[in-house]
Amino acid sequence: MEQIYTIPVNEAFSAMLEEGGEHKCRCPFCEMHSRLEDKEVDRILGAAMMEPDVRIRTNQTGFCPTHFEQMLRGKNRLGLALILESHVDELKGKLKGGILGKSAAGAVKTLTSLEESCYVCERIEYAFARMIETAVLLWERDTEFGEKFRAQTCFCLPHYRRMIAYAQAKLPKKTFARFYEEASEIENAYLDKIKEDVSWFCKKFDYRYEAEPWNGAKDAPERAIAMLSSERHIDKQANKN
Ligand SMILES: [Zn+2]
Ligand SMILES: [Zn+2]
Repeated sequence: MEQIYTIPVNEAFSAMLEEGGEHKCRCPFCEMHSRLEDKEVDRILGAAMMEPDVRIRTNQTGFCPTHFEQMLRGKNRLGLALILESHVDELKGKLKGGILGKSAAGAVKTLTSLEESCYVCERIEYAFARMIETAVLLWERDTEFGEKFRAQTCFCLPHYRRMIAYAQAKLPKKTFARFYEEASEIENAYLDKIKEDVSWFCKKFDYRYEAEPWNGAKDAPERAIAMLSSERHIDKQANKN
């Protein structure tokens, strides 16, 4: 367990308890992911942009649509344009130099790998993988964290899956059984809640239920999607509106 990750992991788990409430699905890993994302986008539009080894890397990997968009919304338009200038230069060189230009097959290969890579995603993934590991190990070693873990409302399914997979691979069998019991209890309870809210949402469109209260189910589709596919998408939409 790397010490530098214990603080952000603890902070995200605590933040969920402060913001939580039974109607919200606030996945602590989504929170960590979104904090990492903000930090990395600020970093690349800040001092890191001028570092030659960073520039070499960004020229090679480019950025995914999500992070291009986040950079566009950032404050440093000139910084972004400088990154784009040398990225396009590099691509042009590749086109002329033959990696793209020699054959259509070569172009397809280069462009496929370019589409699949993103400098910001790479950096986030490095830290995020360690945060998942840290959360599992803190659960095992730190009683106070264990309590915070049990008090969570939910994990989104993709992050739940990663956490469970890591725990199963790393924890001793008996310890994992206990971990799985605690984690799946949280997840199942929230899934029941989502099911109930989505059903109530559907019912509300039936004239017989029109006068009934929403019972907090008005945003049930948003919450269901946040749980099924991580909050990431939902957050982006919310920021746009
Ligand atoms: Zn999540
Ligand atoms: Zn990305």
